[in-house]
Amino acid sequence: MLYDELYKEISETLVYKPTNGFYRINCNRQPEENYKADPYLVFTDSPLLSELGRVVNLMDCPLIICDSFNFPTISKLYPAQTKLIEDNFQETVKEILLLKNKNKSNSLIGLGGCTALDVAREVAGGSNLVFFPTILSTKCLTVNLSILRDKDHNEYNSVTRPPNLTVISFPYFEKLDPDLSRFWAVSCLGDVFAEIGAVCDEAARENKLVNEMVLSEKVPTSWGAVEFFDTEKIRFNARDTIEKISVISHLCSLEVIRNNTKYRGGGEHKLYYALKKLPQARLFPPHGQIVALGTLMTLKGYSEITGDEKLFRRLLRVLKEIGLFVSLKDIEDNYNITRDVISQAAHYFDDHKWPSIIGDYFRRGDFLLFNRVFSDPETGNARL
Ligand SMILES: [Zn+2]
Repeated sequence: MLYDELYKEISETLVYKPTNGFYRINCNRQPEENYKADPYLVFTDSPLLSELGRVVNLMDCPLIICDSFNFPTISKLYPAQTKLIEDNFQETVKEILLLKNKNKSNSLIGLGGCTALDVAREVAGGSNLVFFPTILSTKCLTVNLSILRDKDHNEYNSVTRPPNLTVISFPYFEKLDPDLSRFWAVSCLGDVFAEIGAVCDEAARENKLVNEMVLSEKVPTSWGAVEFFDTEKIRFNARDTIEKISVISHLCSLEVIRNNTKYRGGGEHKLYYALKKLPQARLFPPHGQIVALGTLMTLKGYSEITGDEKLFRRLLRVLKEIGLFVSLKDIEDNYNITRDVISQAAHYFDDHKWPSIIGDYFRRGDFLLFNRVFSDPETGNARL
């Protein structure tokens, strides 16, 4: 079935929430145009399995690329079409590609976490591609990038194409363990907040001031996320939270697709890449959490330069509310990052092209910036 028919059917029956940045699918599209089409994000009130059933019926015998958590259920329902994905190695991609060509599949469904979606995106080519995510993370919902591994197991980014449609089933995410949802959301949000640090880096270079208005203009998605999550009552399996995280992820994906990534690589990402070069890198927390720590360091540095702690305090409060970085001790014990580790990473910190606030501190040999993020002398916890 042609994609525009699928889209028409879905858009007529799903709960559809138009938000800035969504575009109608172009009808009568040629296969190669699938590469360039903007992805569509839709929400449904139906359980994931019934929505999947409907999409499978609408598509022309799609190949379902599925992760190991969902494979037992999905392969029972669609035994001939479901393919298990357990890793994102190049070999796995080749194997699926062969299968896709052999079956002459012109439709694909990716169902599961980031790995299944990464592989589906990589093999999709000009086929119709629909995603059913089972976790909510910035990295995989609607972006046109896949994270894969080469034969030596090194990770690399592959520029692929976005899915045509990503379906978020509210009932599925409402039933998920909120702690699990929180874990994935936090990794996603850490990366989203990083843009705020990058704006401060730019302001420090240009000797300008950053306030809430500047942030809401320059990085509206990030700043919107700060405002949404600045509350003590976050429930990660509540419908408005599920919707917010999905939309944030989608808008970030659109920025990547359109190459609008000016604020995606400040000192916080340089810190991440420097830490990854250390021998103990595997002990460190996931990407989003490290860049969140880097963003806090940038904002702390910025507050010391300007004498205004407001932004730093606000982000610190939000990160604590979503369960990150409760104290310095927490970071040292649970994330294995200490001031010494930070000073080792400083050797690999590449600040050549766009100087950053963290880089300025490192050049002065001031690694205590890390400690000062959590500066309450009595408790070791940050004052809020
Ligand atoms: Zn990142």
